[in-house]
Amino acid sequence: MHILSTKDSATFPVVTQDSVLIFDLDNTLYPSSCDLFSQVSTLIGKYVGDYLGLPPEQAYHVQKDYFRRYGTTLRGLMLEHKIDPADYLNKVHDIDLSVIAPSPVLAQALANLPCRKVIFTNASRGHASRVMDRLGISEHFETIFDIVDAEFIPKPQQQPYDRLLARDGIDPTCAIYFEDMAQNLLPAKDMGMTTVWVHSDSDWARKGNDDPRIDHRTDNLPVFLEMLVSKSTR
Ligand SMILES: [Mg+2]
Repeated sequence: MHILSTKDSATFPVVTQDSVLIFDLDNTLYPSSCDLFSQVSTLIGKYVGDYLGLPPEQAYHVQKDYFRRYGTTLRGLMLEHKIDPADYLNKVHDIDLSVIAPSPVLAQALANLPCRKVIFTNASRGHASRVMDRLGISEHFETIFDIVDAEFIPKPQQQPYDRLLARDGIDPTCAIYFEDMAQNLLPAKDMGMTTVWVHSDSDWARKGNDDPRIDHRTDNLPVFLEMLVSKSTR
């Protein structure tokens, strides 16, 4: 059984043609054990070190300090050093994706769900496209909302949620949102979305996963989606 839990007051969602499935990308569409973030984190540290002329230890300190204060290291670099975000996003996402296995089970489940699917990520559009191509699921998604679309203001701040819903014409009460970072689900629930936490081993991603605003929890997204397929109406 791959549904870890469904809260008592939550009914299992029924997907219809009017539903919209919103997916975070990293550690949600592929298992957190792929650990892409450690590759990205190393490249962020290198970028900070190269740009500011700092040795690795000091660069790491700046990287983490900006992350804590601004939500992303990128936002700190933009506000404090006026860096070019496109250059940053290209360099820090230049990673080896071979650790991600293609997922025909995920692709099939997405194909069988009779509604719109969108990506909502704090990463870049190019990274999202490459990961989706690697998984073999690109064709199933209508749109990507990335950190550039968010004007570099990351989840869980409210603004990117508002912008996504306005841009894509999404009624939050028809939306089901899947995310590994529990904190990112909380604003979505406050707006009326159904929330699904995708299990992560990272303490940082787990923080808040016991909040009552999380409706469902799963440790296997493809299996959870197959259960949605079995309850969907066309
Ligand atoms: Mg994620």
